[in-house]
Amino acid sequence: MQRTVIINPPKMCQPMGAILAYMGVHGCVPVVHGSQGCSTYPRYNIARHFRESAEVAVSSLAEDAAVYGGAKNLAEAIKNVKARLDPEAIGICTTCMSETIGDDVRQIVKKATLPDDTTKVIPASTPSYVGTHLTGYDNAMKALVETLAVKGEPNNKINIITGIINPGDIREIKHMLRLLGIESIFLSDISDTLDTPMMRGGHKPMLPQGGTRISDIADSANSSGTVAICKTAGSAAVYLQNKFNVPAILGPAPVGVANCDRFVENVTKLMDKPITREIENERGRLIDSIVDVHHYMFGRRVAIFGDPGIVSGIVRFCAEVGMAPTVAMTATKHRDFAPDIKAVNSEYGTDMQILEGTDLYEFHEVVKSQGAELIIGNSKGKDIADDENIPLVRVGFPVYDRVGVYRYPILGYRGSIYLLDLMTNAILGHKYDPNKLHQ
Ligand code: SF4
Repeated sequence: MQRTVIINPPKMCQPMGAILAYMGVHGCVPVVHGSQGCSTYPRYNIARHFRESAEVAVSSLAEDAAVYGGAKNLAEAIKNVKARLDPEAIGICTTCMSETIGDDVRQIVKKATLPDDTTKVIPASTPSYVGTHLTGYDNAMKALVETLAVKGEPNNKINIITGIINPGDIREIKHMLRLLGIESIFLSDISDTLDTPMMRGGHKPMLPQGGTRISDIADSANSSGTVAICKTAGSAAVYLQNKFNVPAILGPAPVGVANCDRFVENVTKLMDKPITREIENERGRLIDSIVDVHHYMFGRRVAIFGDPGIVSGIVRFCAEVGMAPTVAMTATKHRDFAPDIKAVNSEYGTDMQILEGTDLYEFHEVVKSQGAELIIGNSKGKDIADDENIPLVRVGFPVYDRVGVYRYPILGYRGSIYLLDLMTNAILGHKYDPNKLHQ
């Protein structure tokens, strides 16, 4: 029977993702054009996951805006943010309400800014009744390059579109590129803005340090290529390819041996660089760590949920280490998700169920019927893990019932080792039984 209700959906609305994209830009303040709750909800999630406060402004629409439109509120919001914070950029994202009443945000922005304004204002359309936080991220990132990228001289750099990953992951990707001798522009970069150092005397600046400079986003049109870590965040890469002939590669997320190898091959080919001994060593250590735990992990049933790019990567990695994934679930539909999971099924002989565009109720039903000894996903899987007495390895966004998860990578060779250690220790800590596990 067709269900007409969603129960416990592991997805968020578009402004959530757009805010994360804007927060990776240096000196950028996101402005949510909607009612107050539309900014409170993302700020709450950001604070719980990253343990950082988030400067997010809102145009604060109320009943009168539903009748007369929200132009006055948005113009006022832009004026106030400029006066109070003097930001380098303002990233606007729309909401259910501003999209439904039909505000022409571009026109409002035009009227609210002067030609000699130093603050760049970037409007993105992020209607929340379609798509998810990943759509919002993608739309905002595309709006950033559409508004700011400018053709100039070749810069011999690679663009990396991160998608929604953690500061620890971004630092790990930067580390890999350093080992390969490749210069990069990150679109965008929350590794400092959402993991901000506390300065001496307990001082934190109003707008966090770090983030991608506006000048670097402008320069992204002159790079040798773009790699989108998550396939759901590829629109800006496609735009740069079509408009400025910057070759684009979308995914896969570098989790596990094969996907990290693909990432290294992609960036070295685009940049015409050799694969270095240091990277080979990191790869070798990942293989070694798989060998070390293979006897603990072989045949272990694992259920995985989250954002499609990251889930596809983790699924392949679990198969590589000999585990038996039973279900792969995502709330965000993407054309490559099912083919990616089916490819793992056929290569590794696994028999995973694929759930797409659905909720954690359905995921829970499959966990009960197919069984699992480990769940991998964000904090929204906690109740299922508790109900079924299965350990939960927390990855993705949001993770709000553990601290520090955002600091550590699961991407790259070293991040994959860390993820494997987490998975193995979760199995050992929870199910240790000398009759079942060989030591
Ligand atoms: S779903 Fe719509 S109304 Fe709810 S927080 Fe998101 S934008 Fe606002």
